Amino acid sequence: MSRSTPEYILAALPTHQIASLPHTRPVRVTDTLSIGGSEIVIAAGPCSIEGFDMLLASARHVKAAGASLLRGGAFKPRTSPYAFQGLGDEGLVIMAEVRDRTGIPIVTEVLDTRQVDRVAQIADVMQVGARNMQNFALLAELGRCGKPVLLKRGASARVAELLLAAEHIMANGNDRVILCERGIRTFETGTRYTLDISAIAVLKHETHLPVLVDPSHAGGRSDLVMPLSLAAIAAGADGLIIEVHPNPPAALSDADQQLTFEQFSDVMKQSARVAFACDRTIKLPDLNTRTAAESTEISPPFDLRRPARDKVAVA
Ligand code: PEP
Ligand code: MN
Repeated sequence: MSRSTPEYILAALPTHQIASLPHTRPVRVTDTLSIGGSEIVIAAGPCSIEGFDMLLASARHVKAAGASLLRGGAFKPRTSPYAFQGLGDEGLVIMAEVRDRTGIPIVTEVLDTRQVDRVAQIADVMQVGARNMQNFALLAELGRCGKPVLLKRGASARVAELLLAAEHIMANGNDRVILCERGIRTFETGTRYTLDISAIAVLKHETHLPVLVDPSHAGGRSDLVMPLSLAAIAAGADGLIIEVHPNPPAALSDADQQLTFEQFSDVMKQSARVAFACDRTIKLPDLNTRTAAESTEISPPFDLRRPARDKVAVA
C-alpha cells in the first residue's frame, strides 16, 4: 500500500509522525494495563475453556509467570462442525469467575453479531478470529461495543486488508484496536501457517495501532512457540498471545501447540532477555509464588526494568 495514498484513514499513521518514534499509540485495556507502550504485554491461557478448574489453574500460573491477560475461547470457530465448539455462555461465566478470583483481565473471541453484547459484558478485550477478519457486520458491531478489540489477521489476508478491517471497527466509533499477526497460508506444510515476521515491521511502520503476535496458531507446534515468540519481540511486536494448558495432550482443541506451565515459564524468561535487548520492558514472574530453584533460574545478569520510553497518549 502506498503511504502517500492510503486506502485507510483512521488506522494510518499520521504522515507527520512517520519519522518520529515512537509511532504506536497505546490502547488502554484497564486502568492499569495498556498495550503498545514500552512494556511487552503477554496474553496466555488455554485454546478453549474446558472447565472451571483448568481455567483457574491456568490463570494462576500464567499470571504468576508474568502474563497480563488471560486468553481462552468460550465460542470456538472450528474448521469441522463435529469438533468441540466451546462451552459457549457457560464458558463466559467461568471466565468471569476466574477473573474475579485472580484479578487477571480476559480476552476471548466473539464469533457473531448476536454474541457481541453478551461477550462485551464479560470480556476486557474482544477477540476477532482469523476466520472473521472480514465479517464486516461483526466489525461494525464491535465499533459500538465500548471494549478494546484484538483483531487477528485472516490466514489469506494482506496487510492492507487487515488495516482496512481495523478501519471498519474504527469508522464505527471504536479506536481501541490491537492488531494480531497469527501466521498466513503459504506453500509450506512443515508448520500450520507461516508467521509473517515482515508484517510485524510493516505494521509497526504504517499504523499507530499496537501489534500482538500469536506464535501458537502460526506454528501449530509447541516446540516452535519459543523461537517464534523471541523473533516476534525482536521484530518489534508489542506483545504475544500464547496457548497454555494444564495438560496439553488432553486438550479438547489445538493439543499440538499448547504449552505446559513449565514451558510457558521458560518462554517468559527468554522473552524478558530479548525484550531487554530491544529496549522494552516485560513483567517478570512473581518471585513470591515460585520455588527458590525457579527464582534463581530467572535472575538475569542485568536489570530488566529499564525506564519507560517517552509516554505517548493512550487511545
Ligand atoms: C484463537 O486464538 O483461539 C484462534 C482460533 O485463533 P485464529 O483465529 O488465529 O485461528
Ligand atoms: Mn487454538
